[in-house]
Amino acid sequence: MSRKQELGLAEGFGSSRQTGGNASCLPWKPWFEGWWSQSESFLHAEAQAALLVGPARMELGSFALALAAARLCNHPAPDGRACGDCPSCRWIAQGQHPDCRWVQSAMEQGADAQGLDEDTDEGSDNDAVSTGGGSGEESGGADGASKEKKQSPQILIGQIRQLQDFAAVSSHRGGSRWAVIGSIHRFNVFAANALLKGLEEPEPGMRYLLYAERLRGVPATILSRCRRLVLQTDAQSLQAQALALNEASSWLLPFLTVRPVRVQPSNWASRVGKTTSIADAVELLLRWLIDVERCRLGLEARHFPFEAVALRAWVDACTGKTSGGSEPYADRYARLMDRLVVYARGSQHPVNAQLYLESVFEDVRQLMFPGIMAR
Ligand SMILES: [Zn+2]
Repeated sequence: MSRKQELGLAEGFGSSRQTGGNASCLPWKPWFEGWWSQSESFLHAEAQAALLVGPARMELGSFALALAAARLCNHPAPDGRACGDCPSCRWIAQGQHPDCRWVQSAMEQGADAQGLDEDTDEGSDNDAVSTGGGSGEESGGADGASKEKKQSPQILIGQIRQLQDFAAVSSHRGGSRWAVIGSIHRFNVFAANALLKGLEEPEPGMRYLLYAERLRGVPATILSRCRRLVLQTDAQSLQAQALALNEASSWLLPFLTVRPVRVQPSNWASRVGKTTSIADAVELLLRWLIDVERCRLGLEARHFPFEAVALRAWVDACTGKTSGGSEPYADRYARLMDRLVVYARGSQHPVNAQLYLESVFEDVRQLMFPGIMAR
């Protein structure tokens, strides 16, 4: 399995904004694997209106979009997943697929954009995939109040009207057309009523894939018209998600999972964002090193069960002949863990966050890979 498949496609997929040059990658969260196997028969049932129910804060919308992408993909993988490389997948990653729309509330759309790219704040302005934003004229007279509209926690009738326009035209590519809509427990009542017609008499080839974090709040009229799948999440996935919420994991984990020889303390530290918690970063390192040791001992990873390949690479690099240094690995490891615990205590108010983390990472490099020079 290639690194890209491992990641499942990448950033940008599921986003409501364009992603520049990185269009071939779509985000595939570790817990999507389990959801995927639960969804297969559901997807093959080809229901025109379907509802996925899954836990909050686990990117259910991105998963729903991944299902749509899989059905639209020109060359799906043997397991049915989207390839990530074909024109269809690229369009989806760029938010420009002519036969796919993702409708979500402006609030969720903004959160997605923020989470995906903290350097830009233009996510909610791009409605290419999402018909989000909407006109919202019947949702409380928000005339001209674009900021209010953008922050609306509800899906608004204007968005559903845009969706109806989309549904009214025939398929661009001659296949099915997809509307991914959620979270539908946040439906404005007018919007819900407007959607009903589409669910009752879907246009030919039109597929409605709805998602919700809970059933409470979902209009009964919508529930009764959808084939429903409640996604189960195992403990491992919940743990992975908890890690995903560790603020440091978004920037530090990619460093940890590349080849260990690329440990470059200054590069790593320079990625520290203004808001990144240093305590999070040190905690993540501690957990990572605990799993490295568990992997060395032949035990299953406790914190990063989906990163077995990267953990193994660390073990090989730390303990192999090329790891260098005369101090035995076990001694180096023990010293590093001691230091990290001290770092963790002092991480609340460092004078200079970047320098502080640079010395943390330098210790990791020197003690784990003493034979590898910084490059
Ligand atoms: Zn594809």
